[in-house]
Amino acid sequence: MIKFCSLYSGSSGNSIYLGTENTHILVDAGVSGVRIANALREINENPEDVSALLVTHEHSDHVKGAGIFSRKYNVPIYAREKTWNAMRRELGKLPDYNIRIIEKDYFTIGDIEVCNYSIPHDAADPVAYTFYVCNKKISIATDIGCLTEDIYKNVIGSDIALIESNHDLDMLKNGRYPLPLKQRILGNNGHLSNVNAAAFVTELVRNGTSNIYLGHLSQENNYPELALEATRCALAECGFDIKKDVHVCVASREHYSEVIQL
Ligand SMILES: [Zn+2]
Ligand SMILES: [Zn+2]
Repeated sequence: MIKFCSLYSGSSGNSIYLGTENTHILVDAGVSGVRIANALREINENPEDVSALLVTHEHSDHVKGAGIFSRKYNVPIYAREKTWNAMRRELGKLPDYNIRIIEKDYFTIGDIEVCNYSIPHDAADPVAYTFYVCNKKISIATDIGCLTEDIYKNVIGSDIALIESNHDLDMLKNGRYPLPLKQRILGNNGHLSNVNAAAFVTELVRNGTSNIYLGHLSQENNYPELALEATRCALAECGFDIKKDVHVCVASREHYSEVIQL
């Protein structure tokens, strides 16, 4: 059995749980170690049982609590080498045995096979993850400036996909962010808008994905209702009803979201 849950998601901090009976993985730790431990307990998981923490990239909303969580619960952290170089100072001192450098596209943690692949984002060497576990495929792809062939190829066919739906284009364009920041977010190495997420989600659903989380929403330039509505409309145009054909939810910024068990 697989259990999947977004503990926290958004520009203010990200952490996602994926586990089986034997293996318990976190993807990112971008809020405090205490908040991650609390959210795990709330979904009936024990922070002591976490087998690995996988990092997507070094931005603070993904690693803020990583060092503390690793030290407190003796959890190895996995990241690519350039990401390690970029985040080491923020993580603080860690024993060598908890520093794991990802060198291969595929590797295994317990009974979960992990695939990592590059994504376009303004970080040292950012990745998205796809997991193969109990004959299911689960993907987490956030902080993506644009959709690439690589992302598409890896995420398509997932049973569960957590996809970035970062901003509403009008809110961002008319909002108070300074122009260079707006350009950064809109650029090919920035973040995925609601409409782009909706188009991607539609492609995924067409190819059989039945559980979608819209995640990494901007606090400033989005509302959960807007993200959901963009995806609902895109799906409806292709004849899919989000009440019947596919389960879509917005991953919350403040607390854990719906737990999916497959
Ligand atoms: Zn980022
Ligand atoms: Zn982020």
